[in-house]
Amino acid sequence: MSQVIVDGFAFCRQAEQREGSAAIAELPRLAAETFNQQGAVHWSFRGGRHPKDYAQLNMAVTGDVALVCQRCLLPMSHAIDTQTRLVLAHDEQEADAIEQTLDDDAIDVIVGSATLDLMQLVEDEVLLSLPLSPRHPTCPDGGAAHTPGKPDSPFAVLQKLKK
Ligand SMILES: [Zn+2]
Repeated sequence: MSQVIVDGFAFCRQAEQREGSAAIAELPRLAAETFNQQGAVHWSFRGGRHPKDYAQLNMAVTGDVALVCQRCLLPMSHAIDTQTRLVLAHDEQEADAIEQTLDDDAIDVIVGSATLDLMQLVEDEVLLSLPLSPRHPTCPDGGAAHTPGKPDSPFAVLQKLKK
């Protein structure tokens, strides 16, 4: 699997930028969630500082992955387009303290290091952004799971209305 190792704190201090692409097949935890391990994600990182003087990483990930529809078990394309702000702490204790100080759900506090693997962060981010139970809005087979000609049960209709 691929790694992109940077010194997290130096990266932010020097306002460095990195971007690239990662094949889904090289991100094993993500690949396991996909239909065929095909495709790639594009990622970019920009180092900087949070107004409260913490090291901050801005991460953006885009791409398309094929997930398995939980209704018809056929592949469905899922677009990834996430932007995340990460604040780096030196250890778990500091991370907890920063979480409390910032009190901002839009920011994730992580433990940074001199050997921070950006690909790990990309993979975590994409995994978190995936739907828990992916389903086509309309399955391409027109609902092969149903008996042909038989109308949906009232319960199934109700389930559809809830979505
Ligand atoms: Zn489907």
